[in-house]
Order: sequence, then structure tokens, then C-alpha cells
Amino acid sequence: MKTMSQTPKIQRVEVYKNHRVQLLLSRFITGDIKKIDPVFDYKDGYKYPVVEAIVGHHSDVEEFLKQLSKQGILERELYDKILHCPDCNSANVSVRYRCPYCKSFDVKKGSLIEHIPCGYIDTEDRFQTEDELMCPRCNKALTRVDVDYRKAGVWCTCNECDKSFDIPTTSHFCRDCHKDFMFEDAIYKDVYSYNLSAQAVKEASFGWVLIAPIKEFLQACGYNVKIPGHLKGASGASHKFDITASRETIPQNVMVFDLAVSNDKPVTEQPVIAMFAKIYDVTPDKACVIAVPKINENGKKLAVLYKINVIEAKDQAEVLKALEPLIK
Ligand SMILES: [Zn+2]
Ligand SMILES: [Zn+2]
Ligand SMILES: [Zn+2]
Repeated sequence: MKTMSQTPKIQRVEVYKNHRVQLLLSRFITGDIKKIDPVFDYKDGYKYPVVEAIVGHHSDVEEFLKQLSKQGILERELYDKILHCPDCNSANVSVRYRCPYCKSFDVKKGSLIEHIPCGYIDTEDRFQTEDELMCPRCNKALTRVDVDYRKAGVWCTCNECDKSFDIPTTSHFCRDCHKDFMFEDAIYKDVYSYNLSAQAVKEASFGWVLIAPIKEFLQACGYNVKIPGHLKGASGASHKFDITASRETIPQNVMVFDLAVSNDKPVTEQPVIAMFAKIYDVTPDKACVIAVPKINENGKKLAVLYKINVIEAKDQAEVLKALEPLIK
């Protein structure tokens, strides 16, 4: 069972700017995560540890995944159904098979045996002698299953009231709070596994997903990173950059980044021109346009003229590789 995406691309672009979404997607894109499968935990039920590591608390994970699948970024598939105790919400729940007559769960499960040569049918224990199975009617030993005898179904006996039956009734027992409850009171939920949708793979590899790893890289290098970052220029106007990075120890050391993404053709010179207009006012130490996957010749020439660095990259690895010499 797969859900269709209901959110148009333009809204998803906003979702891709969310840092937690970027972290999750970048782990998909790098192949770190192939599929998000739930992991069973006796106390809490199913959990998603890989997502928990990104989102923070376990209680927020379900909503996070639900939203992403609604937005068409993740595709969900039914993985299991889970029971929780209606009183304490524990998932540490067992099944109790009960006698339909007296409701006791002290039920012994046995099987019916048919002795094929004489046709006699009875419960297994009636055939059981000290060391072999023996037919109570014709007193012959039963030798091989499916040759001279066969199992003819399940037969339960209640140890409380001695009645026999083939289908027990079912209840549940919470091993944590010891509540006994029926299916009708149980919390019964769908559990899904999640995959990156084909659409998101296409959209995410176009760049939004690059911002999160860049941020982490710059932070690891000791920078204070803002996404997006606003800087005030000499004119007094405030300018917005996709990323700004600064070091408090060296107040003048400010870097600004803009991300330009193009689907089919190379990125044009436009983002370089826009960057120049801003840095003319702001005068950062370094300005960089990250073009995904490439920039056209005009863009390259203008960048040299304006002293703007250009990084051409199609994925995370290429961006980080190009950033390193730029920072040193
Ligand atoms: Zn009974
Ligand atoms: Zn027999
Ligand atoms: Zn309970």
C-alpha cells in the first residue's frame, strides 16, 4: 500500500529548507539510510532510531514522518500492526487464549489424531502410551505420520472446567500494568516503513539537501553559521544570504554563500550578479556561489571579475571537497 503525494513541488521546496528534513534527506542521498524500518521495543512499541537521532525525542518522530509522507517526500508502506495497552500504553502485551465456556486462560493446546486404518479419531493424549502412540480402538501402534495416522486439527482442553473446544477466545495481557483486556479496548495501530519517494530523490539531489552538510562542515571548522543569514551593509540595508559563516574570535572573518540550483541547463550568471550587488554593500571576506550542478561560462567570467568564488558540485561530497581549500 503506497500513498500518493498530495503536495505540489512549490510547497515541498519550503519543506526542504527545514534543517531536520535536510539532515534526513542527506542521509538518504549519501546511501547512509536505504529505508526507514521500525525497530521493536518492548516498552514503547515500534521506534525509528535513525529518525530519532535527527528529530530528537521519540514522541515527535511519528508526526515528523507522517508529515513528510503527506508532503510526498517519503513513501510509506504498511510494515506491521501493533497492540498497545489501553491503560498504560505499553507495547509489552501478550495474547491469552481462553476457554469459551469459563473464560479461563489455563487452556491446554493439543491435536486430534486419526488412525487411518481404522478411522478412529481422538485427542493425542488418548493415543499416548509410555513410549509410543497406540490406537485405543484397534490397539495397533502408530508408526509414521501421514502414512498410518495423521493430525486432524487442533483440540483444546480447559484445565479449569475440563471442557474441550477447537477455537479459543482471545484476550490480551499487559505485562507492565497487568491489565487484562479484549481486542475491542486495545489500541491497535498501523506501523509503516518509509522510503524516499522518487520525486524527492529528484528534487532533493538538486541542492536543498546540500545546505545541511555545509552547515555541519563549517561548524566543525569553528564557524558560527546562520541559515539564512542576514548582514547589514554600509548603506544600512540588510542583505540575505543562504548561508553566512563567521568566527567570533576574528570579527572580520565573514563568509557568505548563495546556492543556485538548475535542473537541466547550467546555472546562469544571474546569481553571481545578485551576489555582487549584495557584497558590494556588505564587504565580507569571502563570497561564494554554489552552483548545482554547473555554471555557464558567463557566470564563471563575471565571478572572476567580481572576486566571487564559484563551487560547482553535483553532490555533497563535491561541495565539501571544494569548500576545504576555500576555508584554509
Ligand atoms: Zn473452561
Ligand atoms: Zn485403530
Ligand atoms: Zn498496561
